[in-house]
Amino acid sequence: MLQVKNISFSYKKTSVLKDISFKVNQGEHVSIIGESGSGKSTLLKLLYGTYDLNDGQIFWKDEEILGPKHNLVIGPEYMKYVAQEFELMPFITVAENIGAFLSNFYPEEKQNRIDELLEVVELSHFKNTKVKELSGGQKQRVALIRAIAKQPEIILLDEPFSHIDNFKKQSLRRSLFKHLKEKNITCVVATHDKHDVLPFSDNMIVLHETKIIANDTPQQLYEEPQNKLIASFFGEFNVIEGVFVYAHQLKVVNKSDLKVIIKQSYFKGHYYLIEADLDGEKMFFESESLYDKNKEVFLEKVL
Ligand code: ADP
Ligand code: MG
Repeated sequence: MLQVKNISFSYKKTSVLKDISFKVNQGEHVSIIGESGSGKSTLLKLLYGTYDLNDGQIFWKDEEILGPKHNLVIGPEYMKYVAQEFELMPFITVAENIGAFLSNFYPEEKQNRIDELLEVVELSHFKNTKVKELSGGQKQRVALIRAIAKQPEIILLDEPFSHIDNFKKQSLRRSLFKHLKEKNITCVVATHDKHDVLPFSDNMIVLHETKIIANDTPQQLYEEPQNKLIASFFGEFNVIEGVFVYAHQLKVVNKSDLKVIIKQSYFKGHYYLIEADLDGEKMFFESESLYDKNKEVFLEKVL
């Protein structure tokens, strides 16, 4: 189990995290979300022992994770960290980049393992390509495999799909998180993408103004967001009589107490996101049909 106990950290004078505590069980996946600058990357670096804490302690099982004051080499052996800005060896091939992290003792097993890993991130075709010739997204995939190559007990991923295009992102996400679950690798992932969180995380931690403002299952936070920050993470929403109502939870009906005027429609594929006006306030709802601008319609919450 990873245990974070009352940690605080500041870069010189800027206090980034104050009195943060949480636990992650072996094999669990936890996501860290929060606005840009809320300290997600800093938190992952602290878990890895990159900096000395101002206060508090971090443990993996019974072992304390200590910062550079206490360690010559940063990062415990059982842990891997993939930075937002990853570093690879550009002048050797993809296979060699991965192989550099594996033992040479059993050459055949090593090659099989490299092939297996390349499949997880769908890079088999690029096995013998030099890393400097890869795109940003392909490099990110190599960085991911290097991290899982030796099967760490815990992996820290900082926005792991940020450089990967939408064509590949969906399937890569599924195969990476599936692989980590199968191998019982504990995972902490910083992200701003709900698609990394909803289907894959056991828990989600929300950072805001140096604090954890929520730590619960994605489903619980999705169904009952306690504030606008959390609701906005999941989608366009409205506040109706103090309750958060997502745009897709409103539908047009013949008559209701909620009369709005259509202002804008945005094509979203299988639906339109429609911006409407309710007494000077913006309302958002989703609809399969398109409505004329300035038309009056009535909305009702879908149960
Ligand atoms: P996030 O990953 O959530 O975007 P970061 O952890 O990168 O947030 O940054 C948190 C805060 O710490 C920001 O205000 C950022 O400007 C500051 N910060 C990050 N890295 C450093 C650094 N090396 N030195 C000083 N301040 C930093
Ligand atoms: Mg970051």
